[in-house]
Amino acid sequence: MTSPHLASPSVAARYLAGYPPELIEQADALHREGRLADHLAHRLPERHEVRSDGALFDYVQALKARHLRNAEPLNSVNYDAKLRVLQHALGTHTRRTQVQGAKLKMRREIRVATLFKEAPAALLRMIVVHELAHLRELEHNKAFYKLCQHMEPEYFQLEFDLRLYLMNQENPQ
Ligand SMILES: [Zn+2]
Repeated sequence: MTSPHLASPSVAARYLAGYPPELIEQADALHREGRLADHLAHRLPERHEVRSDGALFDYVQALKARHLRNAEPLNSVNYDAKLRVLQHALGTHTRRTQVQGAKLKMRREIRVATLFKEAPAALLRMIVVHELAHLRELEHNKAFYKLCQHMEPEYFQLEFDLRLYLMNQENPQ
């Protein structure tokens, strides 16, 4: 309520880099008018109960079994309080190479920012789909996003919604 109306650059511009200017303007208007939280609650009403690392592991394995049955097994799945979502391109993906005996072994980890514990169910699904797609495609290329869309048809809309969600979380009105 006390935040200045004319920030420069706009709040939305930081979260929606690369999106059309009219979408950025709409997001700034929702934020300025204090309607962003309501907008998100209306769009993404479903909650989830995936609150522990164990529950997250089961959740990720279930999605992997459904869509990426042949991908190599995951070594670890964790919530990570230090993960900054935007800075890590909406998640993180490490393929740590370990030397074990004579052979090289790829260690596959999925870390999900702790803020997703409280986020709407659709946003958790979106970020897990993103991380699972990296089991096949390391880069954010065409094949990567095709795989994301295969696992979650609403992927692009949800990535946009996630950016609005982060904008709202990090810039309360
Ligand atoms: Zn990524």
